[in-house]
Amino acid sequence: MPKTPSTSVRNPFDKPVWALAIHGGAGAIPKGDPAEAAYRASLDRVLAAGARRLEAGDSALDVVESLVRLLEDDELFNAGKGAVLNEKGEAELDAAIMDGATLRAGAVASVKTVKNPVTLARAVMERSPHVMLVADGAENFASSVGVERVPNAYFVTERRRKQLQQELARRKTSAAPAPGPARSGTVGAVALDRSGHLAAATSTGGMNAKMPGRVGDAPIIGAGTFADETVAISCTGAGEQFMRHHVAGGVALRMEHLQETVDAASSYYVRDVLAPGDGGLIAVDARGNAALPFNSPGMFRGVADSTGRFDVRIWEN
Ligand code: ASP
Repeated sequence: MPKTPSTSVRNPFDKPVWALAIHGGAGAIPKGDPAEAAYRASLDRVLAAGARRLEAGDSALDVVESLVRLLEDDELFNAGKGAVLNEKGEAELDAAIMDGATLRAGAVASVKTVKNPVTLARAVMERSPHVMLVADGAENFASSVGVERVPNAYFVTERRRKQLQQELARRKTSAAPAPGPARSGTVGAVALDRSGHLAAATSTGGMNAKMPGRVGDAPIIGAGTFADETVAISCTGAGEQFMRHHVAGGVALRMEHLQETVDAASSYYVRDVLAPGDGGLIAVDARGNAALPFNSPGMFRGVADSTGRFDVRIWEN
């Protein structure tokens, strides 16, 4: 059983029968920030919950949905409660989930009243004939299938209101793009279960002070989220860049067609394709190998597997 909390203690000869990675967004708090302990505690708690469930034999799909829900409910992260706000001061949420064994996928974008967008994404996958629903259509569907809705004010925190005001003020004097931390905190989970199945899920409020209606990479299957029988991927960072370069799908294609390892395929995008500062991704393959590369100042992340690996990090090391 994995330890909690700790860093890696691992027998290199063991082969994982399950594996799990989570992220809480690219871009980090400064080293020494008083919030560090809270972020670490949250990531530890979520990673441990996933490790317990995978150890007990739960499916990768159930585990990634439940872990993303926990992160959506935690206002530290830019997803669900505590999401960043659009220019009008509203939370506008995107999420996706994908089942690697069947290639079934579900996604929602620009929802403003769905407490856990990842659960609505799963309902789109399992209870509609479609892969993606957006805005009012997605919210009406939530009501019709009994997925919980809340007023938009539920998501809005003082911290995000301040970040919005700072960004709107900054734009009056500068045309430069927003610095990284303003968009940190997107959440994601990828898992391999004991049956050898993979799944991925991602959820986000997108970018601070985004235009109303802007949709990022997280809910776009193949851009910010993807899973097949080889690998499961969840991305975080400058969404427009991940969409242009088809990052999540590209990792899977390189592994399948170039026989690259999960590490090589993920690093190719993060080091050679994306620009420095764009972000990172988490990936787990069908053998239980994990890769968590990023090119931002940090990435909130954790990785665990059945060999006893259990590791939560924010910065490079
Ligand atoms: N990728 C997300 C988006 O562009 C934001 C993030 O991961 O920080 O919506």
